[in-house]
Amino acid sequence: MNFHDNAMPRHTSPRTQTSANGMGALATSIIPLILTLFLAGTQTACVTEAEAGNSTARPIQPPQRPPVAVAKPAPRHTPQPVITVDLGATFARWGFTLLPQPTPETAAWKNQALGLKIEVRRDKSFILVNGTRIWLASPISAGGHRWQIARVDFDNALLPILAPVATLRNSGIPIRRPAHVFLDPGHGGIDIGCENPRLRLREKELTLDVANRVKHLLERRGFRVTLSRARDVEVALAARPAAARRAGADLFVSIHFNSAGSPGSQVVGIETFTLPPRGQFSTHSTRNASDQATLHTPYPGHAFTHWNTILAYKIQNALAAAANATGPANRGVKRARLAVLRPAMMPAVLVECGFVPSNLEGPKIATPAHREKLARGIAEGIIDYQNTVANAARPQGKPKPLPQKS
Ligand SMILES: [Zn+2]
Repeated sequence: MNFHDNAMPRHTSPRTQTSANGMGALATSIIPLILTLFLAGTQTACVTEAEAGNSTARPIQPPQRPPVAVAKPAPRHTPQPVITVDLGATFARWGFTLLPQPTPETAAWKNQALGLKIEVRRDKSFILVNGTRIWLASPISAGGHRWQIARVDFDNALLPILAPVATLRNSGIPIRRPAHVFLDPGHGGIDIGCENPRLRLREKELTLDVANRVKHLLERRGFRVTLSRARDVEVALAARPAAARRAGADLFVSIHFNSAGSPGSQVVGIETFTLPPRGQFSTHSTRNASDQATLHTPYPGHAFTHWNTILAYKIQNALAAAANATGPANRGVKRARLAVLRPAMMPAVLVECGFVPSNLEGPKIATPAHREKLARGIAEGIIDYQNTVANAARPQGKPKPLPQKS
């Protein structure tokens, strides 16, 4: 959907999702090869100029990135030039216990004191934290008893969740207790979003309803809340994060509903999006021209990658629990270069509160009682995030060093 992002197809069907997952894993394995070719090209160019000793040589041009078609996918399980972190060794240092493995394809660790259970599956591009899927740039790899996660995923997607206070203190961004929330009810005016004609549901009305409920709940907890729209009007995508910035809000939460599948489909679930780090494709990306074109573009939102991860995880967890979205229905924390997230000058997420056309979820979404549950979930996630940031802001001498990685 163009209203979300032109960099990836939105609201894809479960069948497309499955196919896209496979594509994502395959394409992910291509990245290191492309990177290798890219670096090789760089080195060759430098050596050639140096060896020539030609002071009048024209400036070295950046090497042309090899076309994707040249790269061939690396065979499964072959070592890849991706810097990885040994999850087992890291978790052991943090006091996690490795749970008995039901199959060689999975592993799970538990830390009672931290209240965390981590599960991984070989070759899957996600890691489960207390049942919530955290989508990764690269798949989990396994060899023998060693489970490896890409360092970039460990740093950006996992560490902020496992050690939020230390991560925030080391983020280089001044920490203050977030007290001003900007809520962005998606769509509006002639942009109605997705709909369910049979149930007379229109996304633009549902998002405003949920946003007003969240606003009410947060104001009762002492938050200041600003909305991108308080009525049925069209608001340009770029105007939404811009308004949040002008308002001086501490965080940005865009509220949407999903429209995947045809009317009457059985698809259900909750998911939360954050901006991918620079150079990382969107989750389930088809790596189309648009996604490629913006892959390395720096955006203001990149400054908050660790904060985004924490905010997204807190909201996704609370929202999924409130909506009773467990198992596959907890679709997790995903990454997408969405138009409202790219320019955000503060931690920002976009939540998808369920599938409006779904035979299973549509009737629930139609009830005020369910929308109140969704609102409570979003509000609880924001309050949990506020507590975490407040904890990090509390003076405790020097910031704690990050847990040592392997
Ligand atoms: Zn939407």
